[in-house]
Amino acid sequence: MDRYEWVRRVESNARTYAATFESVFEVGSGLRLKDSTGRDILDCLCCAGALPLGHNHPEVKSAVVEFIDSGHVQQVLDLITPAKYDFIEQLYGVLPPAFAAQSKIHFCSPSGSDAVEAAMKLTRIATQRQPIIAFHGAYHGMTGAALGAMGNLGPKSRGMSAGQNVHFAPYPYTFRCPFGSDGSQTDKLSLAYLDTILSDPESGVPCPAAVIVEVVQGEGGCIPVSDYWLRSLRELTKHYQIPLIVDEVQSGFGRTGTMFAFERAGIVPDVLVLSKALGGGFPLAVVMYHESLDVWSRGMHAGTFRGNQIAMVSGKKTMEIIQRDHLAANARSQGEGLVAGLRDLAQTYPELGDVRGRGLMVGVEVVKPGATTGASEPDGELATRIKLAAFEHGLLIETGGRHGAVMRFLPPLNISESDVGEILSRFESALTSTVR
Ligand code: PMP
Repeated sequence: MDRYEWVRRVESNARTYAATFESVFEVGSGLRLKDSTGRDILDCLCCAGALPLGHNHPEVKSAVVEFIDSGHVQQVLDLITPAKYDFIEQLYGVLPPAFAAQSKIHFCSPSGSDAVEAAMKLTRIATQRQPIIAFHGAYHGMTGAALGAMGNLGPKSRGMSAGQNVHFAPYPYTFRCPFGSDGSQTDKLSLAYLDTILSDPESGVPCPAAVIVEVVQGEGGCIPVSDYWLRSLRELTKHYQIPLIVDEVQSGFGRTGTMFAFERAGIVPDVLVLSKALGGGFPLAVVMYHESLDVWSRGMHAGTFRGNQIAMVSGKKTMEIIQRDHLAANARSQGEGLVAGLRDLAQTYPELGDVRGRGLMVGVEVVKPGATTGASEPDGELATRIKLAAFEHGLLIETGGRHGAVMRFLPPLNISESDVGEILSRFESALTSTVR
């Protein structure tokens, strides 16, 4: 038995990607990975978006190495340091001024889940209310409260409580809307439902502490909301005085074509949750919120590893590069190219039922072709086969969505047109070998 076989044996049954892609990954550079057999793999997963510049960006690497060499402190709980000052200054510099001007920042244990926990805890303390409204298909993390807000029973089934005082509202998911694919109908349906439960004390949903939303659902299957829907959600929550938590753990930092996905609609959230790209590949998570919500007291959301200075150095450099190199705009234009190429493929392959996304957060919903009315049935089994074939052809993509039927593309933000061409060509080879 080789040593990797041993790792596979001792690692838990709950492992995820490692159970699907069994290669041994050794070297990474930008979009590309190499496994131990020397195979060239295009990484369109990028740690679920945590590597906005891909693997081993030379400037980020130099900044980190220089920092380690400098003798500065590396872990300091939540004490103040020069690296922390620089990081916060940079972060406030990339946030929309209307949000930054009135917002506080709290460093969390370094995972998106913990920052979501903090956001939910904070709004519950601030409002003295317990219920949270989340959306069907939502993914907010794997810890207790965050898992409670997951709108997909799959990952939290088998013994886990679905409750935790969370009520789920319909997300505007146009492709599977019973009233057809006209987005405005989907939006109205979702908003009318929300307005009813928020306005009517007899609705059975008590007044919530917060509404939590992803502007583009990631794990839920790359589903963007319209600007109209998000603006209306903001108006509704303002009207009923309910804090709006925007979870940009996956969509933040240029991924969707603007620095933050909420910016496109011109709204300002009360609470913003950030992680993944925030640390430029190193673990880091924060919750930011309107200063009027800063009612919790010392130690109410502590954690040992909130002061990872290397992550702050890497995160600062990554934000600088995203801004300097206009990578949000690049994500927008390369994302358009990727979507256009995938839509071309969908003309030939009716199994690609819907191609959607925003920026470089792109999803392809795999279906059983042949429905004459409404959306075709999702085909998670075929999506898995295409994913495995894609890996054979040197393309790393993951599936998501409620039936595991959405192939998700999250390549680095700095890819070129020719990279997009290569991704499409490998994906087409995978399709041809799977469905033809
Ligand atoms: N929120 C969103 C929108 C996410 O996509 C994720 C992770 N996929 C999380 C929260 C949880 O982050 P983590 O896995 O770092 O706990």
